[in-house]
Amino acid sequence: MTAPPTWTEGVPAIDHHSHAGYVRPGQHVSGVDHYVLENAMGHVEGHVPHADYQAYMGLVERGDDGGAAALGERLGIPALVAASREFQTTTVHAVALKEGCEALYGPVAPELLDEVSRQARLDDPVGLYDRALLLSGTASVLTDIPEIDAETWPHERYRPIARIDPYLFPFGHPAWTGRGTDAPRFRRIFFRVLQRQLELSGTALPTTLEAYTEFVIASLERRRSEGFVGLKIASAYVRTLEFVRTDVPTARDAWRTLSAGADRPFDGREAEADLDPAAHKALADHLAFVIAEWAVGASMPVQIHTGFGHTEPGLRISTANPLLLECLIGDPALNTLQIILIHGGFPYSSNLTALAQMHGNVHLDFSWMPYLQHHTVTRVLEEWLELLPANRVMFGTDTGSPEMHLASTLRARTALDGVLGSGVADRLWTPRQATWLAERVLHRNLCDVYGIDL
Ligand SMILES: [Zn+2]
Repeated sequence: MTAPPTWTEGVPAIDHHSHAGYVRPGQHVSGVDHYVLENAMGHVEGHVPHADYQAYMGLVERGDDGGAAALGERLGIPALVAASREFQTTTVHAVALKEGCEALYGPVAPELLDEVSRQARLDDPVGLYDRALLLSGTASVLTDIPEIDAETWPHERYRPIARIDPYLFPFGHPAWTGRGTDAPRFRRIFFRVLQRQLELSGTALPTTLEAYTEFVIASLERRRSEGFVGLKIASAYVRTLEFVRTDVPTARDAWRTLSAGADRPFDGREAEADLDPAAHKALADHLAFVIAEWAVGASMPVQIHTGFGHTEPGLRISTANPLLLECLIGDPALNTLQIILIHGGFPYSSNLTALAQMHGNVHLDFSWMPYLQHHTVTRVLEEWLELLPANRVMFGTDTGSPEMHLASTLRARTALDGVLGSGVADRLWTPRQATWLAERVLHRNLCDVYGIDL
């Protein structure tokens, strides 16, 4: 008996949200075990006193492997990691990682997988990702990473997306008083990208808001001319999604307050203790609108992270609620800004549906969901596709792992096939409409919004 035809078979996908390119030659390269370990840190953080955990992660981040191992032993971290590994085995993440490894490497003994995947990355990172794309029917990806080496990762297949967050916090952040190391890690990455952009522009941090704004726009213009196809806001990891339009005089005051308060240069590692939180928010809010207005004129779509975050605490789920974006989305000057709310916004997926239903410029992607959730992907796709017009939903993986790309794409195709099949059975859609929807979701909507060809 042959398998029934599927709606997505042979339809090329474009991955709307990827992190392909994070692994580059010369960098410290890890195998797939790294993802399991990363997830385990949430379990560790929840079982070790806060100060001890911070001290341990400080050693890890400084590259002091010996010190970290010694302290880790004293804190019982190896046992906590082992326990987390076992508890993780029933998650979709574990299943997807296994599926992706099998599809890419064939039958490999579990204890050898980490080394096999590490070696494959070392040997030919682009070739490995290319293979994952080929096997999953993915034509290209939009990739969000701090920097991408155009010569290593060809832009026709790996189209870069620039985060705007590094530009929003030129003076760093008020002291981090929360749990975990995830939010401080984002701050450091934002800071490094800003330093790099200043360096590329041949300038130190400008001393006035006006000069700084000029630098930001010039930097974005340059990146656009280099092939960046869109922008991303990942700020939910470090602040609220409530961006409020803030006028120039208020922003200028905030700039003055922050530059006077910054008594020592922000080093990208420690947050500054005496930054005024209100000024910090006012300046970032102002800059976000400046950049969004530039994006309207430059026809640069903007992806926005909504909903939950990583397995370690940091992101506040309550302030990552996409409804907080109503100030930004509702701004008359931004009514033609192409916005894509990404990650399915879990647990706010229905809030996304409503926002997209009410704003013709708002689109949704379900990246991340395919390798974290199984039944939920189907439920979300059902809701989105039956209520929203056909031009609003996009597929994405949200991974820098070739194994996860492959598994996520195949899982997303299966979920989409199921939803389209049951829609046809329920006489919601004709077979022709189901075929059309498969194309729209897998690549056509993205091509239209970004103005790119398949
Ligand atoms: Zn992502």
